[in-house]
Amino acid sequence: MPAQPKVTKGLLPHHSAPRLGSVYVFDGRRAVTFSEDAAVLSSCIRCGEPTARLENCADPSCRTELVLCAEHEDVRCAVHAAYP
Ligand SMILES: [Zn+2]
Ligand SMILES: [Zn+2]
Repeated sequence: MPAQPKVTKGLLPHHSAPRLGSVYVFDGRRAVTFSEDAAVLSSCIRCGEPTARLENCADPSCRTELVLCAEHEDVRCAVHAAYP
């Protein structure tokens, strides 16, 4: 029997936190209004890690902002990724 209810990706409740009953009633989605998870609305376009970071494209002339985690902050946008 699974110990944890299914949750929407990116909206993982803190399963170690107390008083989760009211959160799980809403199938996990309600968790977005709780704690710091409310700030994490996106995932790194490289690894899928939930993050709220926005980094500019690694090309100095490009101002495109990309959702990237701390480990992938030098990634280029789709246009510049094709260049060496
Ligand atoms: Zn990443
Ligand atoms: Zn770019």
